Amino acid sequence: MSIWGIATSILAGWLAGALVNWAADHLPDKNFQAIRSGRAPFAFRHYLTLWWYFSRGGVCPHCGEKRPWRVPLVEAVSMGLFLLAWRSFGDAPLTLALLWLYAAFLLTVLVIDLEHRRVLNKMVLPGAVAALAFSFLPGPPSPWQALLGGLIGFGLFLVIAFIGRGAMGAGDVKLAGLIGLMVGYPNVIPALVIGIVLGGAAALALLLSRRAGRKSTMAYAPYLALGALLTLWGTLGG
Ligand SMILES: [Zn+2]
Repeated sequence: MSIWGIATSILAGWLAGALVNWAADHLPDKNFQAIRSGRAPFAFRHYLTLWWYFSRGGVCPHCGEKRPWRVPLVEAVSMGLFLLAWRSFGDAPLTLALLWLYAAFLLTVLVIDLEHRRVLNKMVLPGAVAALAFSFLPGPPSPWQALLGGLIGFGLFLVIAFIGRGAMGAGDVKLAGLIGLMVGYPNVIPALVIGIVLGGAAALALLLSRRAGRKSTMAYAPYLALGALLTLWGTLGG
């Protein structure tokens, strides 16, 4: 990896991490209209926190607010993902751009579901339109593979939701459809299986540590997002 690649990935990953944190702070808010009309401007110091977070004990130099540890963590994870993506696809700019975009998007879904137990329609619906549009770009998946993948993901999780009676939420069903659109058929199968296995392992760990009862719900989207991200690496590169 060249110095240029490392520097670009770190900078782009950091900026993307800031956007993920901004989205995770504001998108779940019902008053998002008010935010868009200018009451909560994007202040870089409030979102690019890695350079001051640890020396200031997490207190923002912009507004004096104590920022949660999620903020620098997301910035660091985003940088790491962007670096890994460059290492794999630094010589294929289109693939790299798509992977960066999907990584930031899935990271946002993951954080919002962990914090709010929700997969937002205002993310899934534009995401589905974008994923379908991206399938027309050169490289896999093709538009037909994307559509078929979306239908299979959505249908499969709809059935699971009916059988599971509430273990799987409507948000997870929509997210499974979106992941299918992103990775296409046949990769939708490994993507969702990885997500189900990771989620199942996490649920089992929670049960065994008695931190959750058999009836309690859990956030499933983070595991689906991880499965999707892993599979995208193989899909876009293939
Ligand atoms: Zn601030």
